[in-house]
Amino acid sequence: MKVARFHAPGDIRLEDAPEPTPGPGDVKIRVRNCSTCGTDVKIFRFGHHHIVPPRVMGHEVAGEVTEVGADVTGWLPGDRVQVIAAIPCGRCPDCRAGRLTVCPNQESIGYHYDGGFAEYMVVPAKVLAVDGVNRIPDGLGFAEASVAEPLACVLNGQELARVGAGDDVVVIGSGPIGCLHVRLARSRGARRVFLVDLNRARLEQAAALVAPDALICAAQADVVDEVAKLTDGRGVDVVITAAASGTAQEQAIQMAARQGRISFFGGLPKDNPIISCDSNLVHYRELTIVGANGSSPAHNRRALELIASGAVPVSDLITHRLPLGEVLAAIDIVGRGAAIKATIEP
Ligand SMILES: [Zn+2]
Ligand SMILES: [Zn+2]
Repeated sequence: MKVARFHAPGDIRLEDAPEPTPGPGDVKIRVRNCSTCGTDVKIFRFGHHHIVPPRVMGHEVAGEVTEVGADVTGWLPGDRVQVIAAIPCGRCPDCRAGRLTVCPNQESIGYHYDGGFAEYMVVPAKVLAVDGVNRIPDGLGFAEASVAEPLACVLNGQELARVGAGDDVVVIGSGPIGCLHVRLARSRGARRVFLVDLNRARLEQAAALVAPDALICAAQADVVDEVAKLTDGRGVDVVITAAASGTAQEQAIQMAARQGRISFFGGLPKDNPIISCDSNLVHYRELTIVGANGSSPAHNRRALELIASGAVPVSDLITHRLPLGEVLAAIDIVGRGAAIKATIEP
């Protein structure tokens, strides 16, 4: 079978590999869709400390069960499934307390285990042990189901930031994650959602799909001033930074209303993670700043339901569908910001 393997930064190769054989606790799937995201671009450019090459990449996986290990119950060949990306251990104190997203022993598909840029993939027993395989509801396509993984991360972020009815929300960053944040915030009852990006063309492409209540191009206007104007000086209830930008995080603190919540959803480059924060704004306005680290198996399940029910539509966000042989082109498209979501169909 064909696979796309990471060998070193800048070196992803399309190779022939033997079909993997599932162990007694594993399930083998025929990958139907594995979507790409900014993380794939980062891995391609810089590698990742959790990836020991060579490794088959791809972590937004949906496919069809073809073989189940001798010890596996509940799954049969032909079952249509979506697979989690981040695998909590299920046993540590954090996992036992229900904090699966911050499990210190977390491993990931496409990092510690071969991923979905392949015709076939083995879902390791560890994934099944934490209920990390989800049945795709009838009528929902594999491509849409593969978007459950990033939506699960977005859901975790909005739960932690307590996005709810009546909230005014600013989303900074209009890539696929920003688009999912806009749609999820609406489904949770947000009153108005404002979308911000530095890149005007990208902002308008996203706005054409997700129709924010206002868009602000950060290259052309002072974002904090614009948000103040839109809210009569009050600021917004929630600010979500879906961009790897310290400036965006600093602005987020400035534009939050009293008792506002700020989600540092996107991380910063590891060599430049320090921002300046007016601590008195946090103190007197009773602000809450929260992080977000991936998603739990339960988030994946609920994200799949949100997509299947139509609460968070994703079909129109999938702008590019490419065969496995085009994986480098897909990563390039994502890296240039030319796609909302590019999915590989091996
Ligand atoms: Zn991803
Ligand atoms: Zn754990």
